[in-house]
Amino acid sequence: MDDAIELLRNKQVIPVSVLEAWKSFEGLNIDGISNERLWLLANLVETLINILADTKASRMNIAIDIDLGRYALAIYDEDGRLVYCDFISDTFPERLLRDVGVDSDTIRALRDAWHVRRAESLSIKHSLLLQPLNPVDIESLKLVAKIIHEKFNNIVVVIGNPLDLPSDAYDKRRRQYRADIILQWLRSRKQGWSFVLGVTDADIFIPGFNFVFSAHNKPVHADIGLLSLARLRQRFYGLKEDHALFLERVKKQTLHIIGHFLGLPDCANRYCVMSYANSIVDVDTKTSDFCPLCQGRLVPGRIAFMSIRQGTR
Ligand SMILES: [Zn+2]
Ligand SMILES: [Zn+2]
Repeated sequence: MDDAIELLRNKQVIPVSVLEAWKSFEGLNIDGISNERLWLLANLVETLINILADTKASRMNIAIDIDLGRYALAIYDEDGRLVYCDFISDTFPERLLRDVGVDSDTIRALRDAWHVRRAESLSIKHSLLLQPLNPVDIESLKLVAKIIHEKFNNIVVVIGNPLDLPSDAYDKRRRQYRADIILQWLRSRKQGWSFVLGVTDADIFIPGFNFVFSAHNKPVHADIGLLSLARLRQRFYGLKEDHALFLERVKKQTLHIIGHFLGLPDCANRYCVMSYANSIVDVDTKTSDFCPLCQGRLVPGRIAFMSIRQGTR
């Protein structure tokens, strides 16, 4: 969150679409929030638009304590019933929830669930097999391991012995490997590991796509992933090699896959590291940070996330 606020301080330009989105929210008060903070809030807004569309709700209340990086929001239907509620906060945000009109019974249920979930999430440790898939150099593997270790100290990373990519995954005509076949094949390496991440310099694709930067076996809570470094290098595009840029791209794509392992879906926010990259421009546009909503969903972390839907509480 501190990183995000630092980013806000440096951000001068606020996209018009964001401001327009702000205007359309009922119950949202932006008085007293400085422009430099809007970028962080804009991250929320992009996701809120999707939630609103999903729930077809008529009213949304948001309470934000931006200095502490906290917010709570509540969405109501035409009859005033609560249909959606969530918050990001490092402590249980009782006051914020009251501010957005959540009743005390619901607040109590949320508090109980939050304590349970937080205790659970803090105790989870993961193990990850980083599988070199030739052609690839071991330095790249060490780089990926370092990136994971720096961001997620609850994931133990072990680099495996290099393997050759399965020849039946190779498409001679396209001169690319089929990521879906490789993912299937990697399953046998899973054994006791929480996650397996294959890393290769080979170019990969999935039928229906010209290429992919990475692939994983499930949309959310994936446990097998594949990262191709080929298109993260400037020389792939006939340009002069740029090591710093390569490192930055590897960091973004690595954290993106780990996000999927830890239960995050692709994010609609194009500056969020969880946004899906269709092109190298997309990779360069996004930051290596998780947006507040994605950060809030990551566990364990100092920020908690909780949502309820009517009838499922
Ligand atoms: Zn993704
Ligand atoms: Zn996000």
